[in-house]
Amino acid sequence: MKPETLAARGGAHAVDEHSGALVPPLHTSTTFARGPDYRLLGAASYARDEAPAFLAVEELLRAATQLAADETVKVVFVKGSGPVFCAGADLKERRGMTREQVRERRLKGFAVYSALEALPMPDLSDFTPKSYTLTGKPLTFMITSRSCPHKCSFCSVHTTFGTDYRRRSLDQMLEEIELRYQQGYRAIDFEDDNLTYYKQTFKELCRRLILRFPNRQMEFVAMNGISYLSLDDELLELMYDAGFSHLNLALVSSDKTVRETTKRPHTLEAYVKVVSKAHQLGFKIVSYQILGLPNESLDSMIQTLAFNSRLPVLLGASPFYRTPNSPIARGLELKESDFIKARLTALAIETQSFTRDDIYTLFVTTRIINFLKGLPVDGATNLLELMSRSWSEPRTQIGFDLLKQLSETGRLYFSTARGLVENRKFRIQLFARVLIEIGTIRCQNGAAISVEKFARQLVTSEKFSSDEIGFKPGLTNSPELESSP
Ligand code: SF4
Repeated sequence: MKPETLAARGGAHAVDEHSGALVPPLHTSTTFARGPDYRLLGAASYARDEAPAFLAVEELLRAATQLAADETVKVVFVKGSGPVFCAGADLKERRGMTREQVRERRLKGFAVYSALEALPMPDLSDFTPKSYTLTGKPLTFMITSRSCPHKCSFCSVHTTFGTDYRRRSLDQMLEEIELRYQQGYRAIDFEDDNLTYYKQTFKELCRRLILRFPNRQMEFVAMNGISYLSLDDELLELMYDAGFSHLNLALVSSDKTVRETTKRPHTLEAYVKVVSKAHQLGFKIVSYQILGLPNESLDSMIQTLAFNSRLPVLLGASPFYRTPNSPIARGLELKESDFIKARLTALAIETQSFTRDDIYTLFVTTRIINFLKGLPVDGATNLLELMSRSWSEPRTQIGFDLLKQLSETGRLYFSTARGLVENRKFRIQLFARVLIEIGTIRCQNGAAISVEKFARQLVTSEKFSSDEIGFKPGLTNSPELESSP
């Protein structure tokens, strides 16, 4: 990109032809020092001509200009030199600035965004398109936006991407998709945190994709999830016609209190409407639940799990962990050990309402339910009948053998290359309780599998007392749907 182009994009500013710097230069007055845990250590004010942010932006602009013109450069990575990159505006730095100076600073900021956006697409020609595939199709990844306008308390998105939600231009998105198509890719995974927040823009993207790929020649997925708050019937139809095949949604919890205390403005009614329409269109849906959030009880987690099991969605389960500096963890005195435990597989959070083994059991239960949800069955059937059949697919037969072992011995086993190994952490009682609560599982293809009889046999088995099962009839049933706000 030529300096004149930058000057045009930068509004009232010229770009020095020799240095590539903006004229007049950008002035920023404050910078902050943060520790490794993101705690604010201090702030420093600079004489405006010496402001480090000013120098960094000028440098960034100069680098973007030079790199754009250099045909030997394949990929440009932009990263912050501190603990956070592009964390949003700090209004304090505007103290003492005139309106004109604020405007000037904003315009120069936009010039930098434009310069970065105008960089040529990353050159992925060193990758073999077939390195990653989605149902056999060469798969690549892209993003159209950064950050998220929502404020879920458990989420770390703002620590990573800042609070300012921003997106690329429609033309640029289409340009990248076209380029990847020409390079042989036939599937794209959008890794945005909130892909469809600007519904109208996203609808327009889909319309243009339909024109370009009228026979769904490209497949699109968004494995990082889509907020169901920004989906409606028209958008779902457009997405499907454009080539979207899967929908990853995040219910998080069907419990109203949990959603409210985690600052999620989502409602169950909106969720059910999206699931129903998407299933009708033919989407494969995965719905995520977070296991072990503060304010969850074992009952409320069972309720969410059962609720999704009765819908034609696969179950995604994410055990909760406290990401340092996420809103939910702020103000806590985290020790080094807490940082080590801040990962999904640690299953580190226990409360008076649930233990680590409870969370683990619910997690494994979702896997067993997904096994049933993916079976090639039609209509309505029940688990005991399915267990009596012979299955030609070896993995399916192994799954049913393990369920038979479970009902006969009261123990769950792993099938390993070294033979069967008992899973000692799995709480059969809790598993049976969840199945009774579910009653009937709805498969991804719409078929129904009743699991209640199987579970009641486990309950009445001599191996357990009803106290161990802990079953309370009518514990949860369907959570009540609330009205949208
Ligand atoms: S909607 Fe998703 S990405 Fe946005 S804040 Fe909530 S959890 Fe994070």
